[in-house]
Amino acid sequence: MKILRAEHLGMCFGVRDAIALAVATAQREPLTVLGDLVHNETVLAGLRARGIRFEQKPDGIRTSNVMVTAHGASERAMSQTRARGLNLVEATCPLVHVAHRAVAKLVAEGFHPVIIGQRDHVEVRGVTEDLAEFDVVLTEAAVAQLRERPRFGVAAQTTQPIERVRGLVQLIRERFPQSEVSFVDTVCQPTKQRQHAAIELAQRCDVVIVIGGAHSNNTRELVATCAQHCGQVHHIQTAADLREAWFAHAETVGLTAGTSTQDEVIVEIEQTLKTKFAQPVFTT
Ligand code: SF4
Repeated sequence: MKILRAEHLGMCFGVRDAIALAVATAQREPLTVLGDLVHNETVLAGLRARGIRFEQKPDGIRTSNVMVTAHGASERAMSQTRARGLNLVEATCPLVHVAHRAVAKLVAEGFHPVIIGQRDHVEVRGVTEDLAEFDVVLTEAAVAQLRERPRFGVAAQTTQPIERVRGLVQLIRERFPQSEVSFVDTVCQPTKQRQHAAIELAQRCDVVIVIGGAHSNNTRELVATCAQHCGQVHHIQTAADLREAWFAHAETVGLTAGTSTQDEVIVEIEQTLKTKFAQPVFTT
């Protein structure tokens, strides 16, 4: 059995920097992170072990330092936090800031903002909470529900597959031929690289293992993308999730991982595949 790694996989610079900032801050003073710094249980458990607290709602914060996650937050939410006398530590990824600025510019230029993404995702909430009016779409059905506007300004959640985003932008243009539709591509480069590498990998493999948190949006998107090109795709979080039956007839197994998956977890899974499930020829 041959094991192949995707050309691009695993933790992105935005998540790495956010974790480093949390660890450095917590070494000096007690820190609470508002929300999940990353959607990866293994990473979160390691941070909790360092004394970092996590709260989903501001009411539960008991430290004077509070961190905004890599997914970002709205100006409104951050002002409310500061108004409570808390010291805000911002771990927002620079590429999420790019998306915030792009949407603000579209609105300032008179476009009605449409965000392609998941309405309840923390990043999308961060982008939309400061807007007076907006739409969030993720499907053709949602585009069909849009009300006509003279000018649409479209941007995307940073972790959406670019092909889906382009398809929905095209659909908006077709549905509203009289409207001006301005699209700003805010899908981040690490997401594009992982998506494209996942397609190349899945096309060459009998089985693809996608490593990442159960609630990680970009990991689930990698699973969906791989499933379009490979008949057997499994989403796992740790080596303990691997099942021998998956590899019974596999000659080539591919590995990819979401943007909040640690290198150590990928290496452990790779080693487990090599030692427990096969005597593979290892290739990168
Ligand atoms: S997935 Fe993209 S936008 Fe999100 S933290 Fe990573 S680099 Fe930044």
